[in-house]
Amino acid sequence: SPGVPGPRAGCMGEATPLLLERVLSGGATTLDAYLARGGYQALRRARELGPGGAMAEVERARLLGRGGAAFPSSRKWAAVAREPGPRYVVCNADESEPGTFKDRVLLELDPFAVLEGMTIAAFATGAERGWIYVRGEYPDAYRSIRRAVEEARARGYLGHHLLGADWSFDVEVRRGAGAYVCGEETALFNSIEGLRGEPRARPPFPTQRGLFGRPTVIHNVETLASVVPILLRGGKWYGALGTARSAGTKLVSVSGDVAVPGLYEVPFGTPIRAILEELAGGAPGGRRIQAVLCGGAAGTFLFPEELDTPLAFETLQAIGGTVGSGALVVLDETADLWEVAERIARFFKEESCGQCVPCRVGTRRQWELVRAIRRQGGRVDGALRALFDDLARVMRDSSICGLGQLAPNALASLVRR
Ligand code: SF4
Repeated sequence: SPGVPGPRAGCMGEATPLLLERVLSGGATTLDAYLARGGYQALRRARELGPGGAMAEVERARLLGRGGAAFPSSRKWAAVAREPGPRYVVCNADESEPGTFKDRVLLELDPFAVLEGMTIAAFATGAERGWIYVRGEYPDAYRSIRRAVEEARARGYLGHHLLGADWSFDVEVRRGAGAYVCGEETALFNSIEGLRGEPRARPPFPTQRGLFGRPTVIHNVETLASVVPILLRGGKWYGALGTARSAGTKLVSVSGDVAVPGLYEVPFGTPIRAILEELAGGAPGGRRIQAVLCGGAAGTFLFPEELDTPLAFETLQAIGGTVGSGALVVLDETADLWEVAERIARFFKEESCGQCVPCRVGTRRQWELVRAIRRQGGRVDGALRALFDDLARVMRDSSICGLGQLAPNALASLVRR
């Protein structure tokens, strides 16, 4: 809000801002404002290239999903395009990972970019309908994207024979009701279908049988917004940004004990320390950073000697971490890490949908273990460690979905420490 101190936005590196270009200059929340700033040129380019050409640009860009799983986007598109129609595109805007607010900013301030990316994905895959599933606790984002959909439809950017093409694509906006698990793609499908928000067993994969049993491309908000600069500047240009296995730029939500919490865009490969110090101003009051929760509650703790790690899928994986949702929650020397760990454990215990035993029971046992460790002043003896490792292994190996599989991550990184 103007005049109210709060999170800021910024960027680092020559190629940026790409995703935050309009956000950093106040946003483009009307179609005219979006068109005046280059809006829908990427869709025009996609139509010149044709569906196969647009898909090839995304492949050259080496775009990986930004929702946490880092799956190659062009492979999803190709798999859906191979299936018989009707095909669907779903935008996962159920951003609920603790410490993460990047999608909210895009939906509130640059909603047409998300819509344009989605329309390009639909064009490339031959999809005819789309759904945007917005987190229930994001009322402003919901209003903003709904207004954008209505305006786009009224002006011929969505709907029958959009922009005079012999292809139609329309989008519906749905709201979640506060369940973290509905960010899991198959639980999200169930929620849209009016069923209980529980993840489905795979296979079949969403590209084969997704929403309403149809082949579905599902992407996170940031992934879809990234399609726009890829088409505008070319996949080769975009693919040359970043590192060997992480192309392009990444939105990073920085919160916690930093002088300037905010949303920042950086090329992949930027050292985490540079993001925290040069963009977010470091820990306030000259205090020391004790740890950084990287990737949200489903991510891992990083410790001071690990902060020079470049932000990239492969480099974080090499040290047992993850880019996850791109959240960096900073904890300075005054923080009680086991208190944070207990909150994470409680969060997963409460958000587990309860469908499978390893997660339903495992998240509760994990919470009890963390409380036991806290009671003994953060000391982890051999027996507790063995118990924790055993529990984490069972949860990772046998939970149905990512919630149960990732729930031990942050706690395991602290126990290892
Ligand atoms: Fe539900 Fe957890 Fe099983 Fe996922 S892992 S299906 S959230 S009980």
